[in-house]
Amino acid sequence: METAEIRRRFLSFYESKGHTVVPSSPLVYDDPNLLFVNAGMVPFKPYFLGQQTPQWDRATSVQKCVRTGDIEEVGKTSRHGTFFQMSGNFSFGDYFKEGAIRFAWELITTSQDQGGYGLDADKIWPTVYEDDDEAYDLWHRTIGVPKERITRRGKLDNYWHMGVPGPGGPCSELYLDRGPDYGREGGPAVDEDRYLEFWNLVFMQYELSAVRAKDDFDIASELPKKNIDTGMGLERMATLLQGVDNLYEIDEVYPVLDRAAELTGKKYGAHSGHAASESHPDDVRLRVVADHVRSSLMLIGDGVTPGNEGRGYVLRRMLRRAVRSMRLLGYDEPSLPLLLPVSVERMKNSYPELEAGFDRISQIAYAEEEAFRRTLASGTTILDTAVSRTKDSGGTTLPGDQAFQLHDTYGFPIDLTLEMAQEQGLEVDRAGFTRLMQEQRERAKADAKSKKGGHANTEVWRDLRALGATDWRAYSQLTSEAKVVGLVVDGVRVEELEPGQRGQVVLDRTPFYAESGGQVGDEGIITADGAHLRVVDVQRPVKGLVAHTVEVLTGPVRTGQEVSAEVDPEWRISACQAHSGTHVVHAALRQVLGPTALQSGSYNKPGYLRLDFAWGQSLSSETRSEIEEVANLAVRQDLPVSAQFMTLPQAREFGALALFGETYDEQVRVIEIGGPWSRELCGGTHVGHSSQIGALSVTGESSVGSGVRRLEAFVGMDALRYLAKERALVAELTEIVKVQPGELKERVAALVARVRDAERELEKVRREQVQAQTGKLVEYARDLGGIRVLTHDAGDGASADDLRTMALDLRGRLGEATPVVVALTGVAKGRPGVVVATNAGARARGVKAGALVRVAAQTLGGGGGGKDDLAQGGGTDPTRTGDALGRIDAAVREAAGITG
Ligand code: ATP
Ligand code: MG
Repeated sequence: METAEIRRRFLSFYESKGHTVVPSSPLVYDDPNLLFVNAGMVPFKPYFLGQQTPQWDRATSVQKCVRTGDIEEVGKTSRHGTFFQMSGNFSFGDYFKEGAIRFAWELITTSQDQGGYGLDADKIWPTVYEDDDEAYDLWHRTIGVPKERITRRGKLDNYWHMGVPGPGGPCSELYLDRGPDYGREGGPAVDEDRYLEFWNLVFMQYELSAVRAKDDFDIASELPKKNIDTGMGLERMATLLQGVDNLYEIDEVYPVLDRAAELTGKKYGAHSGHAASESHPDDVRLRVVADHVRSSLMLIGDGVTPGNEGRGYVLRRMLRRAVRSMRLLGYDEPSLPLLLPVSVERMKNSYPELEAGFDRISQIAYAEEEAFRRTLASGTTILDTAVSRTKDSGGTTLPGDQAFQLHDTYGFPIDLTLEMAQEQGLEVDRAGFTRLMQEQRERAKADAKSKKGGHANTEVWRDLRALGATDWRAYSQLTSEAKVVGLVVDGVRVEELEPGQRGQVVLDRTPFYAESGGQVGDEGIITADGAHLRVVDVQRPVKGLVAHTVEVLTGPVRTGQEVSAEVDPEWRISACQAHSGTHVVHAALRQVLGPTALQSGSYNKPGYLRLDFAWGQSLSSETRSEIEEVANLAVRQDLPVSAQFMTLPQAREFGALALFGETYDEQVRVIEIGGPWSRELCGGTHVGHSSQIGALSVTGESSVGSGVRRLEAFVGMDALRYLAKERALVAELTEIVKVQPGELKERVAALVARVRDAERELEKVRREQVQAQTGKLVEYARDLGGIRVLTHDAGDGASADDLRTMALDLRGRLGEATPVVVALTGVAKGRPGVVVATNAGARARGVKAGALVRVAAQTLGGGGGGKDDLAQGGGTDPTRTGDALGRIDAAVREAAGITG
């Protein structure tokens, strides 16, 4: 049975049992604690937490999930994908354990002819939580599963909660025995590969008051309304119903694996057994390729772009692992253009938007592969240098800071460094590397925390949210009377804020826009009897709650106090201009570049906007001007700007650009500018007519990672100020070079050319001087036991290149008739250098340039080396060049047999 059919049967089965079918939310979900949706229940969290009331008692969905924690398992077990689809049924205070168990059993054991999955009931092994006698009895008495097939397990396996105080409860998992080919007998507790888990039924039964670990928490009370949350892995069911060994071999994944095998010339499965533990490493790699290609497709499809942190990094890692695995399998050419189209072919039935967006998706993926290939090329050179330096110094371990630098600067993954160092017989100081990574992570964390103003602690916000949602009036009002609901300082609730303090204010009602959708929060004031607060930032720390960060100018302000909240009207007008401007620039961009130039992120604040979009190369200045012109034309045409609410499917039909982060929330907001010209889902504030934007002036365009460009612009008065400043700059320049503005360009170009010529001339003169000096130096060669030795300190300004040229010149002039050694020192940019050259006669006497340079460089506080005939080095102490030459002198004397 095809995966699409398994999915269809699941939804229609539960629909026939009174469940509302809810579409999958995108993988990127508006939850600060989650990188990606990782379970079917995530979009329903507000209902389970009691923050919102669902419109239905029963719901069902097939939710797209990504579990980043499972990335290392891929290919090594038979059952872990990074991307997978979790089919679930949910009851909100309606049916409980018995209903959930009966439904699941009916669906899986009903024959395939009659619309079920037709699993063999005798091979199904349920597990229950150790104390959950109720579930045990249901499986045994009501359903009739024999006792020996029901396993009781502890909290680690069979208890569920969200890691925070809130709902929790025991769960019951379903496993299918795949038979002795797959592993040892004895049930799920013995072998989770043979006994494959395919469904988890969670019984949300208790309110937990404290959660310290997965298996360490306090139960406060029974929930008044008990809930059901289940998750059946679509891929795992497909594995079972398609009779394949693992989820990389099902219809939605295998074609990519097959293509990868064909490209690399590997025969998949030839050297592996049925059980995952008997897998050949090449087969594991092929599975990684197939899995990661599919996951990347799904992630980019939902708006993620490769980057160096957070979600972007996960995507980058998967794309790179796929490419790297292909390389390890022996395929060095670009591989994604051959694999990604295979994956979209399989996935588009369930997700048609992937096909529609494939131009954009593939462009991003291919650009990342290109970037990684360049990284591999340059990183390999750096690594080789580091390896030979380590070997030269007699070491066997590549230092941790080198590995870290490769990772940090060149994006070289550590596993790659390990492997390539090993190929050259070196180990890597992993502990040092890990320590540096850890330090970097902590810096990043501290940074993120300070940026978010202490929002990392969500507990205090949840408590405040429990008192009610903020009545949010940003779309209709600029001022509002309100009451202080709560005050927070450094993440802790306080009763009052004193003058001079900085903290957050939560009001029952507010006209302030909270930062979201790329638009910054409003600024303004909150006033009350005797209190005057300046609002400097506005955030929404948890859904439904607005927190104003304020500086208290006069006060105090107390909880419960009546206040007046006023958005600075100037600020708001400029913010509206900037946000509408962002939409206009986005539409202009797509008009000029085509529909694949899709926005991947944006930021706007009064006077300024920036927009990141998918595009492979930099824009020419003509293209930039064209975009600017189209955008300003739209401003001049005075297009109407309107907002309307509709359902997400309606919005899609309407052609609104859904970027990411949208959920199936009943209503979405669509902003139109000039009718269909610009239609975007957006929660921001906007002007009424495009002419109110004033002017747009594009100031820059740059790269922000592979396949993503950034356009920046000034808006409104700031656009004019920017242009005025440029005009002033031109005026100053014409004043300085004394020409008319029209001649400025030619004049500056001419000046630059003259400077270049002058520099060249200067360089020539300098070289002639060096040569003249060199000629004279020959006379200073001394005879040391039959070796002609010339040592000379060329002094300040002599670069390593100069020294080398001089040394070779001198060696030539001194000829081959007798043994010759030339040793020169010099100082360039404060750092001393040394060069030694020998001729064949000297070398025959055992005098080697490399050895002499090492001796000298040591004296200079550095290192160096080279061949027997020519070597160079450097150091840190410019005052010791004389000593360094002295050491060379002594070494030659020793070689020449002169003592004393
Ligand atoms: P496992 O112990 O096998 O890793 P789990 O207990 O972490 O799975 P649950 O959190 O119970 O999984 O998720 C519910 C269902 O989702 C599982 O029964 C399984 O069918 C499916 N599932 C979970 N993780 C994955 C994954 N990485 N790939 C495919 N399916 C998965
Ligand atoms: Mg489970």
